[in-house]
Amino acid sequence: MSERTEDVVVMGTGCAGLTAGIYTARANLAPLVIEGALPGGQLTTTTLVENFPGFPEGVMGHELIAAMRRQAERFGARFVAGQTTGVDLARRPFRIDLEDRVVETRALIVATGADPRYLGLESEGRLIGRGVSSCATCDGALYRAVPVAVIGGGDSALEEAIFLTKFAARVYVVHRRDQLRASPIMQDRAFANPKIEFVWNSTVREVLGTDELTGLRLRDVRDGAERDLAVKAMFVAIGHVPNTAVFRGHVELDGDGYIVLRHGRRTSVPGVFAAGDVADREYRQAITAAGTGCAAALEAVRFLESEPA
Ligand code: NAP
Repeated sequence: MSERTEDVVVMGTGCAGLTAGIYTARANLAPLVIEGALPGGQLTTTTLVENFPGFPEGVMGHELIAAMRRQAERFGARFVAGQTTGVDLARRPFRIDLEDRVVETRALIVATGADPRYLGLESEGRLIGRGVSSCATCDGALYRAVPVAVIGGGDSALEEAIFLTKFAARVYVVHRRDQLRASPIMQDRAFANPKIEFVWNSTVREVLGTDELTGLRLRDVRDGAERDLAVKAMFVAIGHVPNTAVFRGHVELDGDGYIVLRHGRRTSVPGVFAAGDVADREYRQAITAAGTGCAAALEAVRFLESEPA
């Protein structure tokens, strides 16, 4: 059993979780913040963040996250490493199982974020870490002076592609349509970059290679024609999957696994609130995650004030 009942537990340490930590700490609730599988969240896998208000020259993702964490700690947030293995939200206080302990809490803010989506090919899974990656910032420098491919047509794909041009000889952006989803400014930058070449109307049918990636078998979606593209790496940037596996059956989720919000940041369980990408399929920005983390914290504070301890 847990040693004490927490007032509020925050699950996740991305922008949403850390902002919820700052606000609940400033409400004197001494929140317990669970770091999760990727401490610092998705911003730790990016480079320069150019659209977070207040930083006209941009700010490095990991620096922004480190500053938010210091800010939460300064007001009394407590951090614990580890991941949640199970929850019981049917009774109060809620029970949260971590790998090495059980935590009980009166209120819970879920800010577990989302993970990169993969294509789902057997050959892709086999070669993850051996040419297949979802993080150019993490793995891009391994592929100097060789051709690489990025899959996807959104902002993430173009951001990865532009970053990869620092290292790679050539960066192919393979997109399933002939129009990009990415914002105009990112499109302009990518089109202006001489190292980037677009492969339109194409999907990846097979990732080639036994021990390491040697190429991609592409299919033209218009006529089904196949051709091989010689690259040394494939960076997959086709969106995300929310991290809600432990909440299945405990909190209402939609068909894609995102937490369903009832009103504001409230979930189907009174006392459980959601913030950031775990409940956002639309905006998914650092600043919106921070904003919803703030809102979830304010709602949790109100909930605790209205409930007998
Ligand atoms: P996204 O906007 O949802 O784009 C995903 C891309 O992957 C789309 O082009 C989509 O194709 C493609 N795709 C999805 N499933 C696929 C599959 N099974 N096979 C092949 N292609 C597939 O996701 P995102 O790029 O990760 O961006 C998420 C959010 O973060 C957006 O709001 C974006 O603006 C934001 N973001 C902003 C920045 C920035 O401002 N610098 C950087 C990164 C992300 P279709 O177009 O055909 O659907």
